[in-house]
Amino acid sequence: MQVVCALPDLRAARTSLRGTFGLVPTMGALHAGHMALVARARAENDCVGASIFVNPTQFGPTEDLSKYPRPLDRDLALLEEAGVDLVWTPAPAQVYPPGFQTWVEVSEVSRPLEGTHRPGHFRGVATVVAKLFNAFTPDRAYFGQKDAQQVIVLAQMRRDLGFPLQMVVSPTVREEDGLALSSRNVYLDPQQRAAAPVLYRALSAARMAYHAGERRGDQLRAIMREMLAAEPLAKVDYISAADPETLHEVETTADRILLSMAVRIGQTRLIDNVVLGESDLFPGEDQA
Ligand code: AMP
Repeated sequence: MQVVCALPDLRAARTSLRGTFGLVPTMGALHAGHMALVARARAENDCVGASIFVNPTQFGPTEDLSKYPRPLDRDLALLEEAGVDLVWTPAPAQVYPPGFQTWVEVSEVSRPLEGTHRPGHFRGVATVVAKLFNAFTPDRAYFGQKDAQQVIVLAQMRRDLGFPLQMVVSPTVREEDGLALSSRNVYLDPQQRAAAPVLYRALSAARMAYHAGERRGDQLRAIMREMLAAEPLAKVDYISAADPETLHEVETTADRILLSMAVRIGQTRLIDNVVLGESDLFPGEDQA
């Protein structure tokens, strides 16, 4: 496994790799959710690359950039063991050189949900992922459904800017009690950790109602709201039942619905989602 920091070294290493190339972008602090993406990339491509970069431009001024976990040696050992060929671990100045002033802004689907609560977040995400696509020139790029709006924003960017690659979306990996794996789960103390599965319980309750025939957006939101209200440690940022393509809230009824939420437990902000009507975020997959 080649591990490179400087962009010219990345380009040189990439050029030496033959066959199809799958990329897994990450911010490190790797867990089984990341490793599921790596395993899928390994199975579907001749070569696999990963990036480990805690991207400063996707964090707000009061967010957890400085305390975000950075266990680099452990991460590299996991990637090596998983058969990754090439890892880029740039310093911020390699991605954002002095004088940097070009940004990728995906205007509509970045606006609601996470975009409302984390202004500028998706501008940072889209910009860094565009740079990763340029730097690695992958044939396929792997993302988790865990960050559903991120996938929708990046798919829009891929189409609009014409990146010749396929985006592959992999299901959310969860703990046994339903909590979605996240690098931020380490922030939770035992009491908060015990409260955290309430997100998935709320999503599951709404999903059960959907399977019993409920198609009204307001009813599905009410079911989730009620379940979250029963957990005193859970403070809701938003609860959504939206069209998975436009991310507009379902005001009447719909068959395909993205249920999603952001909830604060103590200082830790957790997000989760499920898609109703089709198990995939993109039925038929988002092709180049
Ligand atoms: P991050 O390091 O948080 O930026 O995540 C890197 C990639 O891993 C993103 O595409 C995430 O959506 C994905 N990911 C994070 N957590 C999970 C999870 N629990 N299951 C599946 N994919 C995940």
